[in-house]
Amino acid sequence: MTGEVPKEDGGGGGVSLEDLRQKMVDFAKERDWEKYHSPRNLLLALVGEVGELSECFQWKGEVPKGLPDWKEEEKQHLGEELSDVLLYLVQLSHYCGIDLGKAALRKVHLNAIKHPVNRYISQDKKESSSDDDEKKITNPDNNNSNCNEISENLQN
Ligand SMILES: [Mg+2]
Repeated sequence: MTGEVPKEDGGGGGVSLEDLRQKMVDFAKERDWEKYHSPRNLLLALVGEVGELSECFQWKGEVPKGLPDWKEEEKQHLGEELSDVLLYLVQLSHYCGIDLGKAALRKVHLNAIKHPVNRYISQDKKESSSDDDEKKITNPDNNNSNCNEISENLQN
């Protein structure tokens, strides 16, 4: 297997969750695998794939964004494991009768209400006093002061 994307798939640009959902429904139907696709089985498969995804990062320590030091084969493998997770998530949502795209957009909206921008900006401004500090606030990579608070709130 070369890992090349067939031309008819358009190289992945502009793919929608609905495209993926339909492809996975067809894939399972053609192989008569729908009988195995209970929500519980799909959830367990998803968790297994999250484990495989975790293995890509296991023992590497913290890695910089963009993974500049990774070999091309490692990045390709990472893409495969990310895809396994996404595809099982799409299938699980389908067999649970959840419109994943709609649910995700609703959740982003709810998160925006729960974490208003002004709350975090104003908190950081209190801590900064120079123009350089002002630039830090607008760079999300430098805005670690709220990460723990955001992480705690998202878990609730
Ligand atoms: Mg996998």
